[in-house]
Amino acid sequence: MNMGEVERLDMKTVSIFGASGSIGKQALDVIRNSNGRYEVYALSVRQSIDTLIAQAREFRPKVVVVADEQAARIVKDDLPGIDVRFGDEGLSSTAAEADVALNSVVGFAGLQVTISALAAGKRLALANKESLVAAGPIVRSILKNSSGEIIPVDSEHAAIHQCLRGSNKNEVKSLILTSSGGPFRTSDAEELNFVTKDQALSHPIWSMGPKITIDSSTLMNKALEVIEAVELFDVRGDQVDVVIHPQSVVHSMVSFVDGSVIAQMSKPNMCLPIAYALGYPDRFEPEYGTLDFKNPIALSFEAPRMDVFRSLNYAYDAIRIGRGAPAWLSAVNEVVVDAFLRDEFRWIDIFALIESSMELFDPVDLEQPEDVVMLDKLARVRCQEVIDRWHNRGL
Ligand code: MG
Repeated sequence: MNMGEVERLDMKTVSIFGASGSIGKQALDVIRNSNGRYEVYALSVRQSIDTLIAQAREFRPKVVVVADEQAARIVKDDLPGIDVRFGDEGLSSTAAEADVALNSVVGFAGLQVTISALAAGKRLALANKESLVAAGPIVRSILKNSSGEIIPVDSEHAAIHQCLRGSNKNEVKSLILTSSGGPFRTSDAEELNFVTKDQALSHPIWSMGPKITIDSSTLMNKALEVIEAVELFDVRGDQVDVVIHPQSVVHSMVSFVDGSVIAQMSKPNMCLPIAYALGYPDRFEPEYGTLDFKNPIALSFEAPRMDVFRSLNYAYDAIRIGRGAPAWLSAVNEVVVDAFLRDEFRWIDIFALIESSMELFDPVDLEQPEDVVMLDKLARVRCQEVIDRWHNRGL
């Protein structure tokens, strides 16, 4: 990672991609409470036009980005004086413009923003897992030739980023990602056969969008985070461990060669890692809740059940295989979760469908963003075929 120079106390312009989502709204909350330290340069949404218009009226960005030309026409009438852009082109051009691009676009679509912001030498506050998971090799090569930098917004990686401050890479033994374990942490195999969509959508700690909440229930979210950690912190797959920590107070840890472990703790509030990613290397008030150690506070840690939550194995396998395997995994997971959210099969079937789709993967070398786009498309087609066959079997 490249720690670019930041002029302290200067006002920074921030573009928020995925402004209507959970991270986007919390980012606007951070900016609202920042005493003018940040100014919203641009806002983008995929579908939530009404939310975008309301946000734009409050924050007066220079630019808004919507999905297509038709949406752009609707928005233009409501937001006179604001530059309305659309589509991939709109995302790319806009991501290259502000000091910070906060990428909280859901899914593979976020890749555009990541590539463009980094190529322009900007700070990327990254909340989109897929762009790094799918396009890791490409992002790495862009970073080599640019002054761009990634500060992770995901709570685990933000924690690790904090634990690593001031340490030498050779001193790091392993990164330890914590996971709340999701809503089915203690469910037995029989119960897991009958879990409902509503149960899977009710996360015990964090309030997030539907896709990431399902990913949390299968531990696929953690699996993608393992891949992301490998990319962000330049470590091997076997240097990233996952530990279940139901209280979600320790957001992740780093274990060092001398046996020391440094943990980052805070109340589970995404505004904190968002504010960290915007402000780094400075830390700013307002604080987002303080842990009170004078009251009893019990922290527990346990190993994940890899035999039940098989997603973690997929991640370690994908890292080992490389050559597009993480991209394939991320794409098929998106397709399977989308279909699950349309009630097409049971929660427990998610694993078998991902496994069948992974069997269809052929390694490729990813050199250009277009290579990732092609691989992503192919993975989605193959995965849809797997799902169609599953339905036709009448399961
Ligand atoms: Mg996370």
